[in-house]
Amino acid sequence: MSVFVASRSAFRAAAPVKRQFARRYATEGQPTPPTPTPTPTTEAKKGSNAIPYSLAALALGGAAYYFLAGTPAAKKAEANVKSAAGAAAAKVPGVAAKKAFTGGEQGWVSLLLEDVETVNHNTKRFRFKLPEDDMVSGLEVASAVLAKFKPTDADKPVLRPYTPINDEDATGYLDLLVKKYPNGPMSTHFHDMAPGQRLDIKGPLPKYPWSPNKHQHIALIAGGTGITPMFQLCRAIFNNPEDKTKVTLVFGNVTEEDILLKKELASLENTYPQRFRAFYVLDKAPKEWAGGKGFITQELLKTVLPEPKTDNIKVFVCGPPPMMNAISGNKKSPRDQGELAGVLKELGYTPEQVYKF
Ligand SMILES: Cc1cc2nc3c(=O)[nH]c(=O)nc-3n(C[C@H](O)[C@H](O)[C@H](O)COP(=O)(O)OP(=O)(O)OC[C@H]3O[C@@H](n4cnc5c(N)ncnc54)[C@H](O)[C@@H]3O)c2cc1C
Repeated sequence: MSVFVASRSAFRAAAPVKRQFARRYATEGQPTPPTPTPTPTTEAKKGSNAIPYSLAALALGGAAYYFLAGTPAAKKAEANVKSAAGAAAAKVPGVAAKKAFTGGEQGWVSLLLEDVETVNHNTKRFRFKLPEDDMVSGLEVASAVLAKFKPTDADKPVLRPYTPINDEDATGYLDLLVKKYPNGPMSTHFHDMAPGQRLDIKGPLPKYPWSPNKHQHIALIAGGTGITPMFQLCRAIFNNPEDKTKVTLVFGNVTEEDILLKKELASLENTYPQRFRAFYVLDKAPKEWAGGKGFITQELLKTVLPEPKTDNIKVFVCGPPPMMNAISGNKKSPRDQGELAGVLKELGYTPEQVYKF
């Protein structure tokens, strides 16, 4: 990941919260959002040129593999070639891509860990190979997968949900971003894994079904790895030229280094300045930090979120239990959202306007 403070986009992301307060609500005073110009990536994905693009990727990947044979880079190039071949096969018009996760009676799918990348001091990205190269995950937005692992001294396996960070139409792999908790059994198991090992994964675990323009404006309040379901929503919205939803993100972290997916979020801010706004809050902010400091406060949310009385808005919340408690109240169980409490209730949002991941 690139250094946050180094880029122009990062400057935008870290723009002083106080300065951003000048506009009380994110919906106020904004011009009608222009139709976004799809990036080449988006066009390649959505347009009829998908196959030629994939074939070009195949050729490039193949060339790289030829020159790097035998090295780790060669293995990655080979994986890219396979992925491009899978993508070409999966994007034939009228042919539905095969799904790795089909839910129902399918049960657990044992996935091979292909690659591990260290993202920061406590977070790694894990790339798992789907059972076939031309398979997509089969996840709808928003949904998650469940990972299972049985510690040797435990009677029962540990089950935990994770939200993949790769595009839903990516073929051949599944990327999970996992933060390690010192005594957390599942996250520790992830961080102890090495390429070549396997993990049982099940899905999809349906969350909040998204459809284009379902809401006019959504607010995402995330803490730490709570960003992954929010990023899934953002991908669905901004990868679809038909979807004009406005998005306001409030993202709390301990330190600047802990901000996950910052490059991707900064890129969204740069590409869609009228439709995507991000406000960053750090518990342990460096001296020169221009964003919010401390925890996510009522004052900040009152200032940047769309007002409760605004038509057709939705506020999504995901983060560690203490944050959920303070902002919205915790869920009772995966299927029971529990009562709305905390800051959002005090600000006048209704339970129907809030979704807890
Ligand atoms: C819908 C959903 C999607 C998720 N996606 C991801 C993801 O993509 N990547 C990821 O790393 N984690 C994600 N999580 C959290 C994940 O499921 C586990 O809770 C986390 O990995 C800790 O598990 P553990 O067994 O290691 O530790 P546990 O023993 O379960 O908990 C250890 C510590 O983690 C804290 N914790 C529990 N839940 C959360 C949470 N949701 N966010 C932050 N801290 C928490 C606890 O307070 C405790 O201090 C998601 C959770 C949900 C509900």
